[in-house]
Amino acid sequence: MDEYIFYQWFAIGWICLAAIICFALFFITAPYGKFTRPGWGPMINRAVGWMIMESPAVWMMVLLFVLGDQYANPVSIAFLVLWEIHYLQRSYVFPLRMRGDKKRITLTTVLLGMVFNMGNGYLNGYCLFFRVEQYPLSWFTDLRFLIGFVLFFVGLSINIHSDGVLRSLREPGETGYRIPLKGMFRYVSSANYFGEIVEWIGWAVLTWSSAGLVFFVWTAANLVPRAWSQHTWYRATFSDYPKERKAVIPFVF
Ligand code: NDP
Repeated sequence: MDEYIFYQWFAIGWICLAAIICFALFFITAPYGKFTRPGWGPMINRAVGWMIMESPAVWMMVLLFVLGDQYANPVSIAFLVLWEIHYLQRSYVFPLRMRGDKKRITLTTVLLGMVFNMGNGYLNGYCLFFRVEQYPLSWFTDLRFLIGFVLFFVGLSINIHSDGVLRSLREPGETGYRIPLKGMFRYVSSANYFGEIVEWIGWAVLTWSSAGLVFFVWTAANLVPRAWSQHTWYRATFSDYPKERKAVIPFVF
């Protein structure tokens, strides 16, 4: 099959899978973090698990950039840099800074996460570096790039700040849970997910690509149901949990 036809069918299949996963996740919460439970197979060190799970997104994108024919295009280089800023942070910095270091993660979660990251890495890398979309140098001054760029960094900042707020709720070695009160947590239970969703809306806009759109849909399909589980968990666990706080979209949901 022609590579481009394969890409198109993959994108269609991938977005259908996102819809199924989204539906399923409202009934079965992924077994990690607060929702870790027995019955999902062997467990491994959590930081190592996160690194293994997220790394394919780092390497897949680099591989496709090298194999593609856009490595001299400054716009493609900018896409790669933005992607890697996110994924180097997520794959290697975030896991090493997590509190509750003795915690473990199920291998099932790690393997499913790897599939998710490989699929999205392939989709974005092929789309951006194999001429599915064309990006002249003037793309840097295109309104779509500029608006998407701002959204990307606003989302990234909210995401990193919110992960930091959660981290600060524990002393080194602690494993318990507290109510987060700072930053965007004043508005939503999953401020880190809200930041992540805004970031990938930004990516979809700044690349104005089919892959960017599919990836944003996947991120929302994954994080909105989990945010709902987190919200329900907080409300059931803490009797003094702020009543006005939404799950993931401020003032809306
Ligand atoms: P969580 O909010 O569940 O947990 C993040 C970290 O904070 C964990 O170390 C967790 O500990 C700790 N934590 C959470 N709540 C509390 C609390 N109330 N008190 C103290 N510590 C707390 O996020 P995830 O682990 O699901 O995700 C981590 C990052 O990865 C996020 O930034 C998220 O956006 C991103 N992500 C992106 C996905 C995507 O589809 N693009 C998918 C999944 C995650 P513990 O592990 O012990 O619960």
